Amino acid sequence: MSFNSELVIEALRSVAGARAVLHEPEFRGKEWDYLKDCLDSTFVSSVGRYVGQFETMLAEATGTAHAVAVVNGTAALQVCLRLAGVGRGDEVLVPALSFVATANAVVHAGGVPHFVDSDTATLGISPMKLAAHLAEIAEEREDGCYNKQSGARLAALVPMHVFGHPVDLDALLPLAARYRIPLIEDAAESLGSLYRGRHTGSFGLCSALSFNGNKIITTGGGGAILSNDPELARRAKHLTTTAKLPHPWAFDHDEIAYNYRLPNINAALGCAQMEALPERVAAKRALAERYFAAFEGIDGVRVFREPEYARSNYWLNTLLLDGEDCAARRDEILKLSNEAGIMTRPAWTLLHRLPMYTQAPRDDLSVAEDLERRIVNVPSSAHLANGGN
Ligand SMILES: *Cc1c(COP(=O)(O)O)cnc(C)c1O
Repeated sequence: MSFNSELVIEALRSVAGARAVLHEPEFRGKEWDYLKDCLDSTFVSSVGRYVGQFETMLAEATGTAHAVAVVNGTAALQVCLRLAGVGRGDEVLVPALSFVATANAVVHAGGVPHFVDSDTATLGISPMKLAAHLAEIAEEREDGCYNKQSGARLAALVPMHVFGHPVDLDALLPLAARYRIPLIEDAAESLGSLYRGRHTGSFGLCSALSFNGNKIITTGGGGAILSNDPELARRAKHLTTTAKLPHPWAFDHDEIAYNYRLPNINAALGCAQMEALPERVAAKRALAERYFAAFEGIDGVRVFREPEYARSNYWLNTLLLDGEDCAARRDEILKLSNEAGIMTRPAWTLLHRLPMYTQAPRDDLSVAEDLERRIVNVPSSAHLANGGN
């Protein structure tokens, strides 16, 4: 097998054009109208009609009963973990192959991230490896599941739908149930992605979305908590709005809570963006098709395809390098493409290698380490679906 990096750059150029960034926001709908209306109303902050409207749109689009809009995805995940009962010293099972926010949110909730391995078919947590790991370390006690090596409680499992591709939920959900570990989805990248026809983020006890500027839709900064449990959703809203007790004038609060409410002006942007979501997902799926065609027949590299059970939003398209010496070829592609003005990026540095997490508990992470050498993310803005610009 011969590998020719010039062919890779040529294929990238044929899809993304002469210059392209990794992911751009797009404002082609009612964004200006809603923002103007929001400013005219003077309700730009934590009160106003767009927040509720945005939450309704999110719940409807994802088929979940409740959505609570918050300031960002990290805060959403932190509150999800707290509502699942994660407390001081508890361990939370998270993928090593994720954005740093997944682990940071665990620490913000008082817990310790416990890193687990990935699956090449989904890029998400490997159910097989997790099952073997739990069989080795888990000890079931009356009040929950414990890690017998560290003595800490295993208080939650947080699969992440990597680059928008749904994890194998049919395997992970029974595993979580068997060990009585609450499952929370980090769905920050997978708004618009379906698992066997049902929306990601609607399977766990609760889940977190992000609307950061690089996500499939954006509110500038923002996030949301999704849940089908009305009591949990009520608690999420209460905790993210300073735990204020409703009253016409008095300031009474019944616990130490957070100021995490999404401002109305961000929600106004979100409402316009949500109207474009179906069209955006279709465009991104069409862009993935263009990448499949462009890389057909190029040796040593393939474009990652959604698992057979999934209908993915293809948030970020991913090249997977095959064969020997992937890290060197990855670095060559990164160098050549970025120098040519086509923005490409490696996978995140695996979380257990970041200085603050080198001591964190973990399983063997050989598949994640292999994937890290093989992943190159390529320009994925929706407008590239029709040849760019
Ligand atoms: C973007 C992202 C987050 C956090 O979202 P912010 O809104 O940036 O705080 C969490 N997890 C993953 C996997 C993400 O990609």
